[in-house]
Amino acid sequence: MKFEAVRKETVMKNPQQGMALQRIPSEIRIDPLTGRTARICHFMDLQWQKPDLDALVAGTDAWCPFCGQKVLEVTPCFPEDLITEGRLQDGDMVIFPNIAPYDTIGAVATFGSRHYIPMTDFTPAHMAAAFGFAQRFFRRVADTGHPEAVYHIVNWNYMPPAGSSLIHPHLQVFSSSSAPNLMREEIEASKRYFTENGASFWDDLVELEKESGERYLGQIGRTHWMTAWAPLGVAGDVLAVIEDCHSTLELTEADFLDIGRGLANLMAEYDKMGIYSFNMNFFTGAQDDDHFRFHLLFSPRTFFSQALGTPDVGALRTLFNETVCMAFPEEINQMLIKGF
Ligand SMILES: [Zn+2]
Repeated sequence: MKFEAVRKETVMKNPQQGMALQRIPSEIRIDPLTGRTARICHFMDLQWQKPDLDALVAGTDAWCPFCGQKVLEVTPCFPEDLITEGRLQDGDMVIFPNIAPYDTIGAVATFGSRHYIPMTDFTPAHMAAAFGFAQRFFRRVADTGHPEAVYHIVNWNYMPPAGSSLIHPHLQVFSSSSAPNLMREEIEASKRYFTENGASFWDDLVELEKESGERYLGQIGRTHWMTAWAPLGVAGDVLAVIEDCHSTLELTEADFLDIGRGLANLMAEYDKMGIYSFNMNFFTGAQDDDHFRFHLLFSPRTFFSQALGTPDVGALRTLFNETVCMAFPEEINQMLIKGF
């Protein structure tokens, strides 16, 4: 396994320094598994101004379809052959079909009746309960023998910069036989790695990252947390790999609590940088993918300009799928490790 980077340098005359020559470094990192490249450049302080969140949230509960009794009135129900009772309920958490599905089995899981949960108010127990609830839905789908019950995926778009059109916290929960691009590339590459090296890429990665300590954040139970070598997000990504676990259905209650603990640590530290939004995805293998290890990616999201609504992705990411991270993952590690 190689952690390769191509180092570059831009030279320009800077009028702020009497037209003196200025040298600006950048780096193109190559993901050791898939070969995907990520640019590390710009090098600005990872510090953002949060908007007035109370003003942003004010009044949005009035039209929220997930608030109060509305969630049991306006959201759709599953057909009887999939979920007999129509919707799944656990306390005030509800799972129902996504009205705008992107696959055959697409659902939404709410975190409960509370309309707005600030990022730092999510407790490990609450997140563990929501993930466990999603897993019970996946089990129900799998128990019907449905052909789409191959990859069981949880995606979390928290707050508008991350792609959420609702303030009310919820998870995208879906089962699919079609692995999304990056997950499919990882599964294929990790299968190749296993054949060539007789070992799991993920086990080797955890061992190497632990040993070097440059990006490793810590271990909670059997979850290993680290900043990603070639991140997708502008403020880095955090990767959590679960030991001896290939797929979402194998996660235990203890794993969910450990995942919740790690996520709460990250949210607390990113909050200090002015981040209030993130994406979190489960990356899962199918049940017989012995070469694969279940992992998740947590990627903070922001606006480049709050006032103009400029998102943190542009043409480079959208059309080339080339990413930009504005600090070295090793520096981001130093900012986050205080929370671990
Ligand atoms: Zn609501």
